[in-house]
Amino acid sequence: MSALVKAHLDHRRSWCHFDYCYPVISRRSKGVSLGVNLNPDKVCNFHCVYCEVDRNAPIRRKDVDLDQLEQEMAALLDLVASGELFGTFPFSSALPEHRRLNDIAFSGDGEPTTSRGFRACVERLAALKRARGMDEVKLVLITNATCLQDPEVVEGIDLLMAHGGEIWAKLDAGTEASYRTFNRSAVPFARVLENLSFAVSRWPVFIQTLFQEWQGRGPSEEELATYVERIRELRSGGRLQGLQVYTVARPTPELASRPLGAATMDALAERLRSDLPGLPVEIFYGPAA
Ligand code: SF4
Repeated sequence: MSALVKAHLDHRRSWCHFDYCYPVISRRSKGVSLGVNLNPDKVCNFHCVYCEVDRNAPIRRKDVDLDQLEQEMAALLDLVASGELFGTFPFSSALPEHRRLNDIAFSGDGEPTTSRGFRACVERLAALKRARGMDEVKLVLITNATCLQDPEVVEGIDLLMAHGGEIWAKLDAGTEASYRTFNRSAVPFARVLENLSFAVSRWPVFIQTLFQEWQGRGPSEEELATYVERIRELRSGGRLQGLQVYTVARPTPELASRPLGAATMDALAERLRSDLPGLPVEIFYGPAA
């Protein structure tokens, strides 16, 4: 395995003694992404079969201390700006063109919008970014779309979008059966779909979809056809920006969840581009590709 691949695979959500903020080299960002973990208690309202969060490891704390979080983010911004970050592994293995700060991303050990600190955290990080003149650095919300119509979340996202925001919202399934199998949530699939419809009507949104081999089989024709129909509906209702299609890249809690091979991912991309003409489709391969 190359050092570059190792850099991409090393997504441990810890950095030195920090409790909330961590740096990664992100394939999707094509640069450094500074992650914000608003769920240090590791509680999530999804239980995805492929989730990489190690819920057996002890948690460091349960609360969100916004003063500390802001200090951690400021320290990471300093490390990137000075280049010191790239003197440490795995960042020392990053390609020269990836040694740039692309974004600050809400992406933790659970769903960030379920945190009561979400709105206030967006406010603080937007102010930090503005104070440092970092207008080009995006604020990315990576979300499972379960809370996108909650009034305080809407306020937080409005703020995020006013400060170089992007929304990457998860939709792993076309059918309710697949949603229940893969995401294993008490939140009804219908609510997720309604939230996504609302979101695209209000903000530009990218959909992130993980396709996988599950119990030895890739997505069925019925699953793909229904998924395409869902995407068409979202597209007709608002500002859908594109699809980010990926597969399993790291060890999964369920052994039946496996990466799709490169040829299958390529065929998927071709199918989606043909069924959804004009919609950007980005593909991210698994570790073997
Ligand atoms: S939504 Fe994210 S954090 Fe939650 S279980 Fe799924 S992959 Fe894990």
